[in-house]
Amino acid sequence: MKAKYDFLIVGAGLYGAVFAYKAKKAGKSCLIIDKRSHIAGNIYTEKVEDIQVHKYGAHIFHTNNKEVWEFVNQFAEFNRYTNSPVANYQGEIYNLPFNMNTFNKMWGVTTPDEAKEKIDLQRRESYVKHPQNLEEQAINLVGSDIYEKLIRGYTEKQWGRPCTEIPAFIIRRLPVRFTYDNNYFNDPYQGIPIDGYTAMVERMIEGIEVKLETDYLENKSDWDHLANMVVYTGPVDAYFHYQFGVLEYRSLLFETEVMDTDNFQGNAVVNYTDRETPYTRIIEHKHFDFGTQPKTVVTREYSVEWKQGDEPYYPINDEKNSMQYKRYKALTDKEGNVIFGGRLGEYKYYNMDQVVEAALRKADEVLGNR
Ligand code: UDP
Repeated sequence: MKAKYDFLIVGAGLYGAVFAYKAKKAGKSCLIIDKRSHIAGNIYTEKVEDIQVHKYGAHIFHTNNKEVWEFVNQFAEFNRYTNSPVANYQGEIYNLPFNMNTFNKMWGVTTPDEAKEKIDLQRRESYVKHPQNLEEQAINLVGSDIYEKLIRGYTEKQWGRPCTEIPAFIIRRLPVRFTYDNNYFNDPYQGIPIDGYTAMVERMIEGIEVKLETDYLENKSDWDHLANMVVYTGPVDAYFHYQFGVLEYRSLLFETEVMDTDNFQGNAVVNYTDRETPYTRIIEHKHFDFGTQPKTVVTREYSVEWKQGDEPYYPINDEKNSMQYKRYKALTDKEGNVIFGGRLGEYKYYNMDQVVEAALRKADEVLGNR
């Protein structure tokens, strides 16, 4: 019997939306379902006081992939926002990522050679050839002063464990530069959709049927009968009834406040890098879009231990969870007619552009239009 839809897409986040767009364009019929009451997953934005608020934390689109950049630009006009967060360490302000401005503030050095000399001196004592964890990697990269003031506290708050137990690759996300360049990213393309990510996703899935507040796993077999193929972007362990145990995440808590001032902190993102401040960062949403509204909306972001039932945000890529994921991955490879995608479906610390790229690739592979 022919199913009603070619594709059932579970999750209306970025992966699902990109895949659905491509499938529809290839003449396929799709149904998108999502547990939440809105589309766009964690990139969801909504207006408060005429300011686009990033409901699930700051999302800055950046990529070095021209195809991905051109793809998303079909659905939104992007502004010229360049991410330049600052770090507040016990009231001292430092520029991020680690660059000449940071080194100048930290040590008073003014030239790249002086900065390199200072870092060399600091890491000489503890240099390890093959760093095994984030602490070793960080000290190798920038020395102990920066590690102590700008990395250790923030990282331990973000991941809820000591830096010696966190994989080294996480800090490699951050550039270290010997120029006075505060751009957090190295990518040539960067920006934020002027009318928000929700509108961007809306345009991507225009004309495709969407059912919200619909839990796939609750009635899995009914939903499965509706389509020839399923694109599943929910947690991979939940799909397989946690048979190899629960994959762990870090979760986030957001405290959002409207303030009767037009400029609270002078920057979109301020990281609190000491261990004592309970939140990791404060986002002032209007600065993502050069807003001139009379009020402001700020969000304090807390990183918290995740328990089953909480919103999952960051996969924990330690050895235990990675091994466990490998076992689930083996099952996904055997699951006929189901594609597992996105941060939760692939248990991967994906950036937005990587999600788009992965979904485009998968769509081309499955739809055979390449
Ligand atoms: N990081 C840090 N200090 C900072 C910002 C980032 O040490 O002020 C490190 C930290 O190890 C963190 C990683 O860089 O886990 C990635 O942080 P980022 O805030 O860029 O991650 P996001 O939440 O934006 O994905």
